[in-house]
Amino acid sequence: MHGCCLLGAAAAAQNSREVILLDSKAQQTELEWISSPSTGWEEISGLDENYTPIRTYQVCQVMESNQNNWLRTNWIEKGDAQRIFVELKFTLRDCNSLPGVVGTCKETFNLYYQETDAEVGRNIRESQYVKIDTIAADESFTQGDLGERKMKLNTELRIIGPLSRRGFYLAFQDVGACIALVSVKVYYKKCWSIIENLATFPDTVTGSEFSSLVEVEGTCVSDAEEEADNSPKMHCSAEGEWLVPIGKCICKAGFHQKGDACEPCGRGFYKSSSQDLQCSRCPAHSYNDREGSWRCDCEDGYYRALSDPPAVTCTRPPSAPQNLVYNINQTTVSLEWSSPADNGGRNDVTYRIMCRRCGWEPEECLPCGGNVGYLPAQSGLVDAYVTITDLLAHANYTFEVEAVNGVSDLSRTQRLFASVSIATSQAAPSQVSELIKEKVQQRSVQLSWQEPEQPNGVITEYEIKYYEKDQKDRIYSTVKSKSTSATVNNLKPSTAYVFQIRAFTAAGYGTFGPRLEVTTKEEPSGTASTEQNPVIIIAVVAVAGTIILVFMVFVSAPSISPSVTHGSPRPWIKFPGTKTYIDPETYEDPNRAVHQFAKELDASCIKIERVIGAGEFGEVCSGRLKLPGKRDVPVAIKTLKVGYTEKQRRDFLCEASIMGQFDHPNVVHLEGVVTRGKPVMIVIEYMENGSLDAFLRKHDGQFTVIQLVGMLRGIAAGMRYLSDMGYVHRDLAARNILVNSNLVCKVSDFGLSRVIDDDPEAVYTTTGGKIPVRWTATEAIQYRKFTSSSDVWSYGIVMWEVMSYGERPYWDMSNQDVIKAIEEGYRLPAPMDCPPGLHQLMLDCWQKDRADRPKFDQIVGILDKMIRNPNTLKTPLGTCTRPISPLLDQNTPDFATFRSVGDWLEAIKMERYNDNFTATGYSSLESVARMTIEDVMSLGITLVGHQKKIMSSIQTMRAQMLHLHGTGVQV
Ligand code: AMP
Repeated sequence: MHGCCLLGAAAAAQNSREVILLDSKAQQTELEWISSPSTGWEEISGLDENYTPIRTYQVCQVMESNQNNWLRTNWIEKGDAQRIFVELKFTLRDCNSLPGVVGTCKETFNLYYQETDAEVGRNIRESQYVKIDTIAADESFTQGDLGERKMKLNTELRIIGPLSRRGFYLAFQDVGACIALVSVKVYYKKCWSIIENLATFPDTVTGSEFSSLVEVEGTCVSDAEEEADNSPKMHCSAEGEWLVPIGKCICKAGFHQKGDACEPCGRGFYKSSSQDLQCSRCPAHSYNDREGSWRCDCEDGYYRALSDPPAVTCTRPPSAPQNLVYNINQTTVSLEWSSPADNGGRNDVTYRIMCRRCGWEPEECLPCGGNVGYLPAQSGLVDAYVTITDLLAHANYTFEVEAVNGVSDLSRTQRLFASVSIATSQAAPSQVSELIKEKVQQRSVQLSWQEPEQPNGVITEYEIKYYEKDQKDRIYSTVKSKSTSATVNNLKPSTAYVFQIRAFTAAGYGTFGPRLEVTTKEEPSGTASTEQNPVIIIAVVAVAGTIILVFMVFVSAPSISPSVTHGSPRPWIKFPGTKTYIDPETYEDPNRAVHQFAKELDASCIKIERVIGAGEFGEVCSGRLKLPGKRDVPVAIKTLKVGYTEKQRRDFLCEASIMGQFDHPNVVHLEGVVTRGKPVMIVIEYMENGSLDAFLRKHDGQFTVIQLVGMLRGIAAGMRYLSDMGYVHRDLAARNILVNSNLVCKVSDFGLSRVIDDDPEAVYTTTGGKIPVRWTATEAIQYRKFTSSSDVWSYGIVMWEVMSYGERPYWDMSNQDVIKAIEEGYRLPAPMDCPPGLHQLMLDCWQKDRADRPKFDQIVGILDKMIRNPNTLKTPLGTCTRPISPLLDQNTPDFATFRSVGDWLEAIKMERYNDNFTATGYSSLESVARMTIEDVMSLGITLVGHQKKIMSSIQTMRAQMLHLHGTGVQV
């Protein structure tokens, strides 16, 4: 009967947070709980609403009084549980519905528990039980639809705990009610393991108190990591619910979240940081072929800078800067360029400059070192320009401008740069030395100083800078002086001043020399001081100064490399393995030679402006050459006249094949050739002042000796270069030297036989072939032995031409007479005002035995020394200290051996004027030595050549006398 009623009871839905310790309904077999007395609770099988068999316990002793029926469950092991839930489902009969039970019938029962660590015996001792509650029915019977009474299923829930033993028993005490226990369920609650925010939280038993929250730390799922300072936590409530999540895990780099897990990024994707949410596609120029990548690898030739985040595209070094142009101002070079066509995909392009000083071969370049200045800097240049200062004078430099970006240094590919090769000209003067106070007064100070050790040119002026030593804000005053002394006026009495001096040449100012502190004298008491503007009274001005100022631009001066200052005999750094000249005639195909050594220019780059001369093969024009990426430059253009023969064409281009092999500041530079168009052209750097002989004649007497020596030095340096290359010029003469606007002299006119053919000075000799006799060494005239030593002879003649401002060597003597005179030991005398040292050098060049002649290398060295010590270049009557070498005695008359004026005139082959001398009373050599050019002219000697020849010899005579007697001869 009861069972039937129990069937109707709805089974409690199993809560997923519950851990069941006992569920009577789930047990199919007998429960076999202990019932005491055995007449009390009775186990009865029934069916639930689903007709599933269930076990129930019933008791219904309502008629009898004093009922005490106990029912005890089996031992329940509690596990982790602290708080136990007991859910009872039962039916309870309403006593009113039972007739005749008044007084004995009850409507409640009691619930107890007993804690033990193990099962105990089957005896129930009441005293050992702890009462949980008295349970009453909420509902007992209800009226059915048809008026019948229906038993209602009660559900009661009680909670026990905290429990301390391993297990417990439950007990039900009936005191005379009619009960059917349909189900007894004992459980505790757990927060079941879950994954929240990519963290796994384990199964967690709820706390013992109703209000307690158990804090649980999460563990990140695989391939996830805790977010920084935000480790995952959750709280397990007493109800078995997870509450209050804190912190989280995030997928590691290379992984992204999919549901509650982290999955690797696919191929071609990456995730660089755990912070990123999604995997991203590889940026441009990068790839990966693995899953789970945190970054993509750059394609070949592409790079990522260390500071580049993985999300940016891979980049590459920029291409070379474009349109590199330069501007050279003596020893300062400025470079400008435009940005590279390809910045490599980056916007951090800067530029760096590589400076190398070169010999004549590309492999002879050495880094410039730390003495060179770069403005604003050598590297990290943001703007496309730089100024390079403090270069050595007359040196070859190669500058490479490299565009770099953040990945340039990672790249293993070849560096791309724009480069220019530049030859510097002149250096600024070095510091003045030995600044001393000559005279100190109340309001003026007289100073003097020494010329800089390396003037590197003609000093046209000195600048004196001074300031009051104790003045707070240093206000400088400057005054100028043309000599090595100056008086600075209008100073304050009893005041300390600081003076500094620097020299100025065409190359600019040198650096200031050491400071000199001078205190002006005290003013006699009673005199008031008056302030005036400082005025300079400049001491005697050098005579040459005025001329120099007209020619502010300067001749090529020696390069003063550090090795010189330390006493090395050779000022030009020479690199091993000098390039050798290749004779273009050795090429079977002359066109190949041209294209090997000369650049083919596009005729459209050349603009012809005017005709400036006539060459053997056609007109020589001036014009401009505009090469891509360079400033347009003035050029000379030699053209090949129309209707030329193949031989003429070959001979014409031969000059280019030769010139194209040379690269030196004192050798005319070939820009290129036009052979694939008409007219055929040779394009050469433009030399504004044309050929040297005509230029000197035009400016007769206008240069200082230093300027002339500077020119000679340039020519010698060019010749040294040519001879080092193994090239013999054969036609070195002032007419074949070109002069540019800076008075830099360059050797030109190259060719083979044709050079000589072309030369109007060349005449046929008995040995065959045309030879410019006056310039040619004896052995070359006699048996065509042309060598660098014969070029040295010619160089001696050029020296003579230069020092005599373009005089014709041997004046109007015939070629035959010249050959004869030379054979007899006659040599050209020193030109007017020529320092003896220079004439000596000429004589050395004209040594009969070519082995005795100096090498060009030595000539450059001697000239450099002279330029550095201008005192040695004083005119013959000056303070010449250099003894005249015995060489002179071999080739020029030694005046000491002449007994008479007649002897002397005979020796210089001017005996025809013997009578003119004696008639006017010049009977002694001493009186002759005092003659001026006017005196010579007044003798009735009208031929200019003879006047000069006689004057030159008189000058040499004076020099010798000075040397012999140590006394000057006043003119
Ligand atoms: P050439 O063919 O060397 O005999 O040249 C004939 C003339 O043209 C020379 O005497 C010079 O006056 C002039 N000339 C040749 N080359 C140049 C140049 N590079 N710059 C200026 N003038 C030149």
